[in-house]
Amino acid sequence: MTLKLYNSLTRSVEAFAPGDGTTVRVYGCGPTIYARAHIGNFRTFIVYDFLHRVLERKGWDVRFAVNFTDVDDKTIDGAAREGVALNDFTAPLGEVFLQDMETLGIKHFDVIPLATDHVEEMVQWIQRLEAAGLAYPAEDGSVYFRISAFPKYGRLSGNRADGDSGRSRIDADEYEKDDVRDFVLWKAAKDVDRQVGAVWESPWGPGRPGWHLECSVLSISCLGETLDIHLGGEDLLFPHHENEIAQSEGATGRPFARFWLHTKHLRVEGRKMSKSLGNVFTVQDLLDKGHPPAAIRHLLISAQYRKELNFTESGLEGSARAVERLVALHRRLHHEVIEDGGTEAGLAGLAETALASFDAALDDDLNSSEALAALFVFLKEVNGALDRSGGRAAPDELEAAREALAAMDRVLGLLEVALRMDVDDDQELASWVEEMIAQRKEARASKDWGRADEIRDALADRGVVLEDTAQGTRWKQGA
Ligand code: AMP
Ligand code: ZN
Repeated sequence: MTLKLYNSLTRSVEAFAPGDGTTVRVYGCGPTIYARAHIGNFRTFIVYDFLHRVLERKGWDVRFAVNFTDVDDKTIDGAAREGVALNDFTAPLGEVFLQDMETLGIKHFDVIPLATDHVEEMVQWIQRLEAAGLAYPAEDGSVYFRISAFPKYGRLSGNRADGDSGRSRIDADEYEKDDVRDFVLWKAAKDVDRQVGAVWESPWGPGRPGWHLECSVLSISCLGETLDIHLGGEDLLFPHHENEIAQSEGATGRPFARFWLHTKHLRVEGRKMSKSLGNVFTVQDLLDKGHPPAAIRHLLISAQYRKELNFTESGLEGSARAVERLVALHRRLHHEVIEDGGTEAGLAGLAETALASFDAALDDDLNSSEALAALFVFLKEVNGALDRSGGRAAPDELEAAREALAAMDRVLGLLEVALRMDVDDDQELASWVEEMIAQRKEARASKDWGRADEIRDALADRGVVLEDTAQGTRWKQGA
């Protein structure tokens, strides 16, 4: 089956395969680390994660980069407000972001480049653009991109930027431009930049890179000149992504990204998220209210990424119940069913049908809500079949049902998060470790070495070391 994705660049659903046939190179615009990310941001990042897992299920290698924007107006203002150096302000926020990712079961991205680690390359990039006649310095030492010299500008957004409607994140002090449409590549240093140490030398004088340039240079530096997929929230399509294309293709002469995917913004209790409405929640806010991480994850993937998604407390409670039903199914299949070679409960057929619908949903432009529907139909039917068989099933069909559940969860990540739980006491630790060992065994049986290694790492994170022996896997703590 072919994965089909809606490509914002062509405004149509297209069949996707990696450009080189094996490795998918994906770049997603990451968080600006000036405040703790909110659940709206995490809708977008969970979509990144969902795509990541779908691409792996399709059997491709994936190289996934997501940047941290650690130098821009917001991070600089934040550092100045707290009276600390830029890096001392952003580094702890980056750590918190990684923790929130972990809480929600977002898999590690292969690379998380920081803008401040790549400023030299950004300066060189501007020199390339200047040599190509696409960039010009202004008197104050800033450098701008000359849109009139790049005729393809506007292909992604349809917005040729000949007015200034819809322009966001553009400084009011950019009065030195030749043309109102032009955007900044290099910003001449201001006092506040000096105050927090956000100043680098350049041929045009001291300054710092523009936000748009950061993503062009970071993505190309990590993944090469043509990306397979570029991701971001819908608000980034214009001007950010349009500008990324101009800067990248202007310098390389090659297509920058083959597919562009944009996630629709999350709403909260039916409204746009905003500080003034008091509906901006972080993951921690929801944990503090007692909502389990797997419920948050479930709610955030309950609608396909291009569909409206409304985050409500009652929805979250419904998600918690859905996750509980899944955990109960997992428990039933692993600990309660009586293995009986004489019984045919029909589980293997249900597993096959469920996986077929599940995969069809993934292929249909990452339709996560349909994928969840396939899983819950499976849940209901397996429970019904087991009720009818008196809780008995033949070993091979039981194995097929367990494997189908595990395979679907490798994409959805719900049991993965729910079964991880906080491990407070020894008893809980012991059952969690046993569960992880069982999952690892399954992963190894299905030759999913990546997953098996992940589980080993998750155990290692809690100081648990595994030892594979002829009698099975043993574990100990503290080594
Ligand atoms: P920022 O930290 O503001 O740079 O945003 C990080 C990512 O979150 C970007 O891809 C944004 O498009 C995305 N984003 C911001 N607000 C929302 C929202 N309400 N729903 C979904 N994604 C969002
Ligand atoms: Zn970006």
